[in-house]
Amino acid sequence: MVGLSEAMGRLRTKDKSESIQESHYASPEELNLAIRDLQRVFSGPNQTTTDPDALRTYGSSENSYHPTAAHAIIVRPSSTEDVVHIVNIARKYRVPIVAYSGATSLEGHFSGYSTGSICLDMSGMDKILQINVADSDLVCQPGARWEDINQKLKSDGIPLFFPLDPGPGATIGGMIGTGCSGTNAVRYGTARAEWFLNVTAVLPNGHIVKTRRRARKSAAGFDTTKLFIGAEGTLGIITEVTLRLAPFLPTKVAMAQFPNVEVAVSAVQEILNSPHGPHIQCIELLDNNMMDAINKAGLVERPYPVLDTLFFKIQGSAECISSASKTIQAIVKKHGSKTFKFAATEEEADDLWQNRKYALMSSLAAYPGTRCWTTDVCVPVSKLPQLVYETKEDLSRAKLPNTTVGHVGDGNFHAFILFRENQLEEASEAVHRLVQRAINLDGTCTGEHGVGVGKKEYLLDELGEGTIELMKTIKRAVDPLNLLNPGKLYPDSNASKDED
Ligand SMILES: Cc1cc2nc3c(=O)[nH]c(=O)nc-3n(C[C@H](O)[C@H](O)[C@H](O)COP(=O)(O)OP(=O)(O)OC[C@H]3O[C@@H](n4cnc5c(N)ncnc54)[C@H](O)[C@@H]3O)c2cc1C
Repeated sequence: MVGLSEAMGRLRTKDKSESIQESHYASPEELNLAIRDLQRVFSGPNQTTTDPDALRTYGSSENSYHPTAAHAIIVRPSSTEDVVHIVNIARKYRVPIVAYSGATSLEGHFSGYSTGSICLDMSGMDKILQINVADSDLVCQPGARWEDINQKLKSDGIPLFFPLDPGPGATIGGMIGTGCSGTNAVRYGTARAEWFLNVTAVLPNGHIVKTRRRARKSAAGFDTTKLFIGAEGTLGIITEVTLRLAPFLPTKVAMAQFPNVEVAVSAVQEILNSPHGPHIQCIELLDNNMMDAINKAGLVERPYPVLDTLFFKIQGSAECISSASKTIQAIVKKHGSKTFKFAATEEEADDLWQNRKYALMSSLAAYPGTRCWTTDVCVPVSKLPQLVYETKEDLSRAKLPNTTVGHVGDGNFHAFILFRENQLEEASEAVHRLVQRAINLDGTCTGEHGVGVGKKEYLLDELGEGTIELMKTIKRAVDPLNLLNPGKLYPDSNASKDED
């Protein structure tokens, strides 16, 4: 049987840019000089590592099935000035730098570069530096985790929170890097909204820039903060950030079950367009396969009916929540839902929401011995039923078990494709067809996980040559030596429109 790592090397996503650029980077001798300089400047305990196991672990992710390479050295800075030192050494010897933080990204974002890369581990720069309650903002280092920030606000009794909620363990630097979102995006939008008021970044030339001050809004020139959102560590290394915070509101959870996805999505559209729409914090779709997996995984006391299901979070005062839930109940009933469950207590709400939270874990538990390929596409909301229907048909033809969760209020859809080691190629091809289907429906190859290695081949189709050239022009201007995270995000220059 072909091993998973061997099969990963054969997948359709080949990194053509690497072979083109290899000669441009440090020779093995120059790489050794760079490593020696880094070890000399960062000589404290644990500040650098060249342990081969660690280099491999930091250069790959068990959640990504794209080709990868080990790093040459891991360096752990503790200040902006440390980052400047590292960038200057990297530039002197032309060694690629890959920023690494929570390591929860899913598309090979932090994989190592084949000629030898510096893994810049930002996770130790995790301090919350200021909480400005009166201004509802917070200044932190980029390694701070979103969950720790919210926990700190809660334990200090501050009725504010940071609403972007990607994977557990994700950090602010990585969240800016991928342009993340999560379940709260229905109400609060994504990283591309105004949640990052400014960033401090070290550019490839070693200069430090701060994109803006702390004012809530500013019309002073380009929005250079946004340049770093979704840049995946290719334009600068973020070393400090000011986050905007939102008021913490009482929340209730409800669940409704439907005969099919189409009616569930119609109900979502009507709810969001009602006067109660703004009180909806999250609307998550779990399809019948996912509900089945939750039952099978044994994480619930009583099994649920195996039906397409919506989970809601409703926010506001008790009166707001009560009238919003009445409206939701009436709308879901009109759209064919026979089950509507409203969590009366906080404990019940937690129990109900756990099912959404443990979706991935339940899927793996329900199909023992499988790996999971987490996909991420987004389409206009009205196209979601077609996308879900066609994808499930396709995966069933390919004999690949699957479960679905969707941030349905945004048209964002994740199929969890469960496959055995010998089915990696089939899984990869199914992901490819899913992405093409989403783009054909006027959607995107990634709603929130970002491009990394895995999605860069689709950008030309999705965005067009002019937009890609604009992205590359910015990259060349900021990073002429292509030192920051090469081989990610930007489509390869010689990528044909359709390789098949
Ligand atoms: C179980 C699970 C659930 C998930 N759910 C969601 C979800 O709902 N929504 C969502 O959007 N994502 C989700 N994700 C994906 C992931 O959590 C996000 O992509 C997250 O934003 C990555 O943050 P990180 O700190 O882990 O970044 P990393 O993985 O460490 O890095 C991500 C990118 O940012 C760059 N980077 C890191 N730090 C810096 C820095 N200081 N300066 C410049 N560049 C930097 C890296 O080079 C890399 O390109 C999920 C992942 C998992 C495993």
